[in-house]
Amino acid sequence: MRYDAAMLRQKESAVFQRIDELADEMVAFLQDLVRVPTVNPPGANYAECAALIGDQLKEFGYEIQYVTAEGLPECTPQHPRVNVIGRMAGTHAQPTLHFNGHLDVVPVGEGWTVDPFAALIRDGRLYGRGVTDQKAGIAASIFAVEAIRRAGIQLTGSVEQSATVDEESGGFAGVAYLAERGYFNRTQLDYVVITEPLDYDRICLGHRGVYWFEVVTRGRTAHGSMPFLGTSAIDCMARVIHHIESELKPKLNQRRTAMPVEPAGARAATINVNALFGGQPIDALQTPCVADVSRAIFDRRFLLEEPFVEVRGEIVALLESLRQTDAEFRYELHDRMIVHPTMTAPDAALVQAMTEAIQTTLNQTPPLIASPGTYDQKHFARIAGIEQCIAYGPGILNLAHQPDEYCELKHLVSACKAMALATLRLVG
Ligand SMILES: [Zn+2]
Repeated sequence: MRYDAAMLRQKESAVFQRIDELADEMVAFLQDLVRVPTVNPPGANYAECAALIGDQLKEFGYEIQYVTAEGLPECTPQHPRVNVIGRMAGTHAQPTLHFNGHLDVVPVGEGWTVDPFAALIRDGRLYGRGVTDQKAGIAASIFAVEAIRRAGIQLTGSVEQSATVDEESGGFAGVAYLAERGYFNRTQLDYVVITEPLDYDRICLGHRGVYWFEVVTRGRTAHGSMPFLGTSAIDCMARVIHHIESELKPKLNQRRTAMPVEPAGARAATINVNALFGGQPIDALQTPCVADVSRAIFDRRFLLEEPFVEVRGEIVALLESLRQTDAEFRYELHDRMIVHPTMTAPDAALVQAMTEAIQTTLNQTPPLIASPGTYDQKHFARIAGIEQCIAYGPGILNLAHQPDEYCELKHLVSACKAMALATLRLVG
């Protein structure tokens, strides 16, 4: 990328000035977003929130498109899955920089000391469910580009902004739906910034992989007073869990990734029992029975260095070894969800541009990190085939999904500035 350094500095200071002027308007817009409780599940008020964002983008010169995830079972008349995409063409169609944020928020939960949907501002912090994760990111990217426009700078490349649904439940009616239908694809999009909160001073390059699987063990029922006449499916499941604890977990803990996952504890492969069921419902009236079925769901997080076939093969081998030593051990293995790990190269132009932008804004070099959990980058990378995708937003990671979630207004402004500078460098 070539640009005249002096010219860029002049443009940058003009844009910074516009952001400072626009800050109140940006905060008011963020408050409006927070006041629409887009709680997922069930996926409430999406259409209203999408319209709020669409109207703002339209006012700021974008062409708007609403895409409802018709045909998916979760998209109902009561809870339509409405996504919004805005496009502002530059003097050339490409390159295109795309900002994406999710408009859904997790349920409120316990422990709040303020109204989670009042968007209260106190001591320079804006409080509310979803403010950090991640409506602040949506506001910051929209006003970053608007500041460039108000500074009278004509971009040569194009900018797109999208607000999408259901990230918190996997993104299938949101980014995945749009990528599968060609709204997001590699021939059109060069750079994607997902405005998730991995901290306002860090850049996230990608995430680990996820393998959710269900194990079903089958026993033979008998009277509970004579358990030796049957086979307990719960005992079989206990053996599975015991093997995972004693054999698999120590092995996984030895495997380390070169990905800069934060926190560092998540640089190893991990497994967690997500759900466990066996025998009779706990609250039901009990009859003495040997359990004939037990089911458990496991959450295996795998590393860029671990091929998925080996990850799955290891589970099959563990279950098979139990079957071979015990003729009564019968099991089924069902794949529930597979998300492959993804990471953008640290030397990609997008990462370089965002690094320089944060350096200029905060006067410090942002660490490049990877996320222990996944977010919509999986769909941009795997379905849309986009190579240059990062997450960067104004929120604080540890406040996501917490009671009294808030965003520092100064982080909102600094992230907005960093996004604006990156935009100038990439499509200016
Ligand atoms: Zn999020």
